[in-house]
Amino acid sequence: MGESPMGIVELKQHLKELTDQAAHNDGILKRAQARELLLLRADSLGSLLRVLVEGLRESHSLEATGVVMLDPHHEIRHLLAANGERPEDFKQILFVDSLTGQAPQLSALRRPWLGAYAMAEHGLLFPGVGHLKSVALVPLLRKDKATAVLCFGSTETGRFTRHHGTDFLAHLGAVAAVCLENAINRARLLRAGITDFLTGWHNRRYLQQRLKEELARAQRHAASISCLMIDIDHFKNINDGYGHLIGDNALKEVALRVESQIRSMDTAARFGGDEFAIILPEASVAAAATLAERIRDNIAARPFVLAEQITRHLSVSIGVAAVSPGRHETDLKALADRLLADADAALYRAKALGRNRVQAGTG
Ligand code: GH3
Ligand code: MG
Repeated sequence: MGESPMGIVELKQHLKELTDQAAHNDGILKRAQARELLLLRADSLGSLLRVLVEGLRESHSLEATGVVMLDPHHEIRHLLAANGERPEDFKQILFVDSLTGQAPQLSALRRPWLGAYAMAEHGLLFPGVGHLKSVALVPLLRKDKATAVLCFGSTETGRFTRHHGTDFLAHLGAVAAVCLENAINRARLLRAGITDFLTGWHNRRYLQQRLKEELARAQRHAASISCLMIDIDHFKNINDGYGHLIGDNALKEVALRVESQIRSMDTAARFGGDEFAIILPEASVAAAATLAERIRDNIAARPFVLAEQITRHLSVSIGVAAVSPGRHETDLKALADRLLADADAALYRAKALGRNRVQAGTG
């Protein structure tokens, strides 16, 4: 004989429960994958950090999220700043010298930790957020050490308990750790591509790009832009006399003295070996020449202390040029090249006339 009618109903009920459970699990998996895609798609360090806090808070419907991030050399903050972000705007990211300072349990964390919120333990992780009942702490590991910790806070006691499985969160942590490392490496490469390591100034490539943008702006405002080309006089003598490292110190000190004279809106770049270029928006050739004279004087007036027992006088020659892009000028790249070439020609004249002097204009 076949199954009784009751048996079929039970079987159907059982099948429905299984299907519902599968659909529920499928939903969890899909949501977890969607979250991971958010992380993988973030195309800069800043946007990744935003996804880590805001994105995950929304997609998990949490009251609080934060990231404690190990940044003892302030490198991550510098990388953000170099990319036009303000690290202090990332209020839920705590940049710390050591993980233990924020919560004793963080530095030993190798797996997600879920449990009750305790003010004494977790208060520093969620500054300004009250009423939390349970937390999840998810370490982002690199070589088996936590470099950052994702902190999730909920006002529900039952949201994170030690009875919950941690596999999903561990997986999220692993993906987040790889994304973070990638984003940091990409930001490092980007910075290396536009920055001169010795002086910390921008390099020639950046300056040329920036100059085009400044020319477009000057065009809109019918303003002029000036350029200074600065080259150290007889710099080879320093290298030949004292060695490359002392030469490097001289370059750095010249850069510092130039920097002390320019405005925040000016762009300074190391253009070549001992050559520096400054772009001065909204400056006439006369104003630029006055600034150039101040820079020249600041360098020639006081000797340079290059090392213990090594003090030397240095001087620079400076070429000055300016342009006012016409309204109908379309080739801003050519205009940028001409401005740099004019400043370089003026610099060449300053050298030919005996060095330690400023020459302006094309004539
Ligand atoms: P001039 O007055 O005609 O400019 O004479 P100069 O000796 O300064 O000649 P020049 O500008 O051609 O020489 C630049 C020197 O700078 C040559 C190069 O070896 C040196 N140099 C370039 N980059 C660096 C660097 O990063 N560090 C050091 N120490 N020296 C550098
Ligand atoms: Mg030189």
